[in-house]
Amino acid sequence: MAFEGLSGKLQEVFKKLKGKGKLSEKDVKEAMREVKIALLEADVNFKVVKDFVNKVTEKSLGQEVLESLTPAQQVIKIVNDELTNLMGSIQSKINYGSKPPTIIMMVGLQGSGKTTTSGKLANMLKTQGKNPLLVACDIYRPAAIKQLQVVGSKVNVPVFSMGDKTNPVDIAKGALDYAVSNNFNVMIIDTAGRLHIDEELMDELVNIKLSLKPHEILLVVDSMTGQDAVNVAEVFNNKLGIDGVILTKLDGDTRGGAALSIRAVTQKPIKFVAMGEKLSDIEPFHPDRMASRILG
Ligand code: GDP
Repeated sequence: MAFEGLSGKLQEVFKKLKGKGKLSEKDVKEAMREVKIALLEADVNFKVVKDFVNKVTEKSLGQEVLESLTPAQQVIKIVNDELTNLMGSIQSKINYGSKPPTIIMMVGLQGSGKTTTSGKLANMLKTQGKNPLLVACDIYRPAAIKQLQVVGSKVNVPVFSMGDKTNPVDIAKGALDYAVSNNFNVMIIDTAGRLHIDEELMDELVNIKLSLKPHEILLVVDSMTGQDAVNVAEVFNNKLGIDGVILTKLDGDTRGGAALSIRAVTQKPIKFVAMGEKLSDIEPFHPDRMASRILG
């Protein structure tokens, strides 16, 4: 299960604190040292851990905590609040355009779950009363177009494609004309992924961005890849500019590093999380619920 190691270790730290009754400064510092180790072991970014622990320590050493009748509970609450803040504090929504269609561009490395997640997003928006169109702009990976068509047919969402011989910018423009004349109010563009970030991939994505001016650029990252996911998010954000992140494969035994670091490192919110291979396995991301889940 996701975050299992981190949850277990934090619970141990809190159990020790609860056993002490009144807390001294030394008790708090010792507990924070353990929290720090637990976060580092969960593959959370080093600088993020340092800032987090400093903040929690400072708040926990306040008089109202040390003199409180339930100091351990107060410390747990501080950790809970700061974990929530770390992940963005509030739920982030899709930014819809003032006039349809809203254009959502899905980007990410190959294997991150981009195509599957495009289908999941289309499915979710459909259940919310939108009329989405999926757009096949990955012309490089063999069978990428076919895969999107399979996903589209499963969720009953049409897929716009011009085969693999047309430039992705022209496909995206063609899709926009098609969406306007056929009353689709959301376009979800599945762009090409590569095994590694390269200039060519970025240039192509930048060109699509410049021509289509999407309302949302959502980066799909695999939570199982930990700090690599965070590095990928940083590079995509610096080179392309992203509006949010979709974290996939949270059903796996991910340690938590990506979920806890991405927001602080990129300043961009996690908007959705995907927790399985089924096309219904997507949820809006709630930082407070995730924090409670981690704290167990
Ligand atoms: P793309 O190359 O980024 O388009 O990735 P795909 O959409 O082809 O997904 C790669 C693999 O990850 C597929 O086998 C998907 O079924 C799987 N996958 C995608 N999202 C999730 C998820 O949230 N959980 C799990 N367990 N598997 C996922």
